[in-house]
Amino acid sequence: MAHHKVENGKLVPASKIQVMIDNFYARNEPMILRVLDATTRFFVKVRARPVLKVLSRLLGTVFPTGEVVTTERAIDFIDAISVLDKTEIAVGPCMCQKALKKRNGTYIKDMVILYGAEAYKMSYPEYKDLNPEEAKELLRKLQEEGLMPTFYSCLRSGGWIYAICNCEGKICFPFRAHQAAGAVLYPGPDIVSLNSEECIGCGTCVERCHFGANTLVDGICQIDLAKCYGCGVCIPTCNGQARKMVERAGYRPRYYPVELVSKAAA
Ligand code: SF4
Ligand code: SF4
Ligand code: SF4
Repeated sequence: MAHHKVENGKLVPASKIQVMIDNFYARNEPMILRVLDATTRFFVKVRARPVLKVLSRLLGTVFPTGEVVTTERAIDFIDAISVLDKTEIAVGPCMCQKALKKRNGTYIKDMVILYGAEAYKMSYPEYKDLNPEEAKELLRKLQEEGLMPTFYSCLRSGGWIYAICNCEGKICFPFRAHQAAGAVLYPGPDIVSLNSEECIGCGTCVERCHFGANTLVDGICQIDLAKCYGCGVCIPTCNGQARKMVERAGYRPRYYPVELVSKAAA
């Protein structure tokens, strides 16, 4: 049975060609990551950031780019696709850790979805199917670890979402490339909101945020909202319960299928 993709807020069968293209990328992903990582490091070292920025925009038209969302949104998406056969969610090794031969935290966290599950399982037998409950449990566990759910897509198209990566800031290549050159990650539908009167200045949010959006000033948290990508990993650990996620004003949907998820919830 054909695996699916998202199109116009609906799940529709993906073509064999789409699966084969994603499979070609999947097979070569470790090599691609190593080359891009070395290239990025080189241009950062020689301080040629303008070149890196141009490269990032060019390569991003083909290679994966991502939209950061909250764990709750990722779970809502799993619910929305739970009508499908369970073989359309699978989990395997973090490709960045595998390719770059570095380890940090959970290793089996690369959640491939829809036609992406078919494409990755064709090349990597270690990818294991997850039922929706298992997928949601894993996402919650990864949130506790402070990892940010990110919907990755190729060709900058919502019809090509293939994975929910759960990333951090040290090893994750797309995150580091974004920090160096931009145009790799995009903010999701939510943004943090802080009630300063409830803040007790514990500083946990400063540690949890990969984007450096939080700082302590005179013992009270201050947020630079321009740096908040809306991952929500700072919410459950806020000791003053001073933070919540709210809808982002002017949100521009990229990859997270808002329409599909809201229709499924209705
Ligand atoms: S993008 Fe993130 S979760 Fe995905 S393979 Fe890289 S580090 Fe792992
Ligand atoms: S401030 Fe919170 S929600 Fe915003 S990016 Fe940082 S950790 Fe994520
Ligand atoms: S985690 Fe909450 S209480 Fe602690 S500094 Fe941040 S906003 Fe304040």
